[in-house]
Amino acid sequence: MLMSDTFRFTAPPGADELRAKVRELAEGYLADKDPVTRANCWMRPDPAFSLLAGEAGLIGMVWPKKYGGHERTAAERYIVMEELLAAGAPVCSHWVADRQSGALLLKYGTEEQRQKIIPGIVRGETYFCIGLSEPGSGSDLASVRTRATHTAEGWRINGQKIWSTIAHKSHYMIALIRTGSEEERQKGLSQFLIDLSMPGIDIRPIRDLTGTEEFTEVFFDDVLVPDSMRIGEVGEGWKQVTAELALERSGPERYLTSFSLLNALIRFGQTSGRDDIRRLVGQAVAELWSLREMSMSTAAKLASGEDPVVEASIVKDLGTGYEQELPRAVQALLEEVDFASGDDFGRLLAYLLQASPSFSLRGGTREVLRGIIARGLGLR
Ligand SMILES: Cc1cc2nc3c(=O)[nH]c(=O)nc-3n(C[C@H](O)[C@H](O)[C@H](O)COP(=O)(O)OP(=O)(O)OC[C@H]3O[C@@H](n4cnc5c(N)ncnc54)[C@H](O)[C@@H]3O)c2cc1C
Repeated sequence: MLMSDTFRFTAPPGADELRAKVRELAEGYLADKDPVTRANCWMRPDPAFSLLAGEAGLIGMVWPKKYGGHERTAAERYIVMEELLAAGAPVCSHWVADRQSGALLLKYGTEEQRQKIIPGIVRGETYFCIGLSEPGSGSDLASVRTRATHTAEGWRINGQKIWSTIAHKSHYMIALIRTGSEEERQKGLSQFLIDLSMPGIDIRPIRDLTGTEEFTEVFFDDVLVPDSMRIGEVGEGWKQVTAELALERSGPERYLTSFSLLNALIRFGQTSGRDDIRRLVGQAVAELWSLREMSMSTAAKLASGEDPVVEASIVKDLGTGYEQELPRAVQALLEEVDFASGDDFGRLLAYLLQASPSFSLRGGTREVLRGIIARGLGLR
């Protein structure tokens, strides 16, 4: 069963108040921010905002109170994510920790790991990055070569990760590391919680096309990681990491990255009175609404304990296609946009035209997702 009525959120009690509270918090913080800094906001780290979100109880919303969490519903959490992203709040510092690292530690971590790490995530103080990709191991993740060798003192890690977003601004990486032989492929992989301040770790930022430096390369030179920082069983890394992917692929960040452009287009359409702009707005809003329904249905399925890998892949594939198409459609329609003028609309459109090709790469490429969908539907 893919998307269906069985997995729907009903509006939780107090939904409107929660929505208003989050909107007020985000707008208060963003008052002087232009639309460009509101686009792709979950790639913009800002610890001050994450601390504010932590104080307001917006991180770790569904996690147990004994680790500092708030034991709210998944529907309430969805409302919070949606409002923060729609406003363009700079959520990047805590995003990965809140979306997947904390959930992974709750599921597979030890009690010691949970007690040590999760309260800091909830307060908006502890940040995580994802250590999957390596030079030569992106889509073919099972070919990961960074290796952990078991010794009397712990695990010695050697190798390199690449494209780890905000590793240089994070406290921890959850890394997929080879503990068995390369021939074992998936079976030879394990997950480690790596404290990025440890000796032997060298993090180098990579500048992207838009001029930001949030990507990194992370080098491990004989890094000694105690066995207490292993997550789950040795050899179970693949199973654990694939369970994490549904959390990574189905949220509202997969269709709201270009939302500030839609807002700007609506404002532009109101003043220009052009029918072609109205048509594009209507089409974009209708598509957004369908994506939202699909994403919420997948979130409801996740909340019921299922692992909707195929649904999450569909949401990400269609959602990122939408996020990429909108800037292109606006450019095609508004030939008069002067990118050199420096006005907000031109800068926003220019930024999204440059950044959006990456939207369908991060979190698994379009071709890889379509392979997963085809397999899930029994087509291959
Ligand atoms: C903005 C951004 C943020 C990122 N953040 C992180 C992060 O925090 N942590 C992290 O670990 N990684 C991160 N990545 C890396 C991302 O996960 C990889 O770029 C992605 O998995 C693709 O891997 P690759 O770049 O090695 O490309 P390749 O795997 O080399 O793919 C190249 C091309 O070949 C196609 N291809 C590959 N295999 C197949 C196949 N079997 N069938 C059909 N087509 C195929 C791909 O679709 C792609 O078009 C990030 C990437 C981006 C763009």
